[in-house]
Amino acid sequence: MDHIDFHIHLYPPEIVRDAEKISESEPYFDALTHNSVHKWGTIDDLLPRMERDGVERAVVGGFAFRDMGLCRFCNDYIIDCVKRYPEKLDGMCLVPPLARGFDGEILRCAEAGLIGAGEFFPEGQGIDIADASQTWRLAGVLQEANLCVQWHTAEPVGHSYAGKGSVGPREAALFCMHHPEVRVIFAHLGGGLWLYELMPEMKLYLSNAYYDLAALPWLYEPAILKSIEATGVADKFLMGTDFPILDSLRYKKAIEMSGISRETIEKINRANAISLLKDLRSNSGGHSPFSPGLAPLNPLIFP
Ligand SMILES: [Zn+2]
Repeated sequence: MDHIDFHIHLYPPEIVRDAEKISESEPYFDALTHNSVHKWGTIDDLLPRMERDGVERAVVGGFAFRDMGLCRFCNDYIIDCVKRYPEKLDGMCLVPPLARGFDGEILRCAEAGLIGAGEFFPEGQGIDIADASQTWRLAGVLQEANLCVQWHTAEPVGHSYAGKGSVGPREAALFCMHHPEVRVIFAHLGGGLWLYELMPEMKLYLSNAYYDLAALPWLYEPAILKSIEATGVADKFLMGTDFPILDSLRYKKAIEMSGISRETIEKINRANAISLLKDLRSNSGGHSPFSPGLAPLNPLIFP
């Protein structure tokens, strides 16, 4: 067993069955399930794939619907999967993050043993993650329940694809500046946000930020992993495939071609995930990067 996969979507069989009907009221679901790369995946598809690809543990979540009922239905499925396979799975819940009662649903899922919330689709769900007035309640409930959050983010440049959206490093950075204590995973390498960890003030604000590699084989040359290693941020990266649309074999190839060290590979594949999962189970809450009593630095006037 050689890696932990932190970015997996599972679809309950009923969602697959009713996909056409659901697409009528969920435009993002419609766009993401009607394109040439889409694949369905249930728990019964995932388990043999984990076996085949040497996936030691998988962090699974549903689909970020706009409708609370659909989110709740997927959350029940994820909770059930995690209960059936606790030695293999951890789970993430989803809610429409501005809907009435979203906080109660997150707390219910935390109570049932899930470790985080996501992968949220900010544009599909109509939330501006750069706007603190929209994110403060979510950040509060995540802190209260010691959950991480996973946001879909993408590159602000380059080719377009279904679900790419325009939430990138700028918006992701603002979320962390408003809520630096929340443990957050920015999907798809945070759209490049990791590069700005070389700015001293951003390194502080991003103290609790992680980045997953989901979709890397479609987005970047393998050499990006060498850059990440050189930037000194490899301990913030998590392996994540975006199963069912991609599997780990493509990632293994990219990692091998990148020329990064064995030590870095071990961090990205396992060690970082193990330590994040341990923190999430310890109930310690994300640490504040700022000394008690000191107001956060104003990044506009820093240094
Ligand atoms: Zn995504």
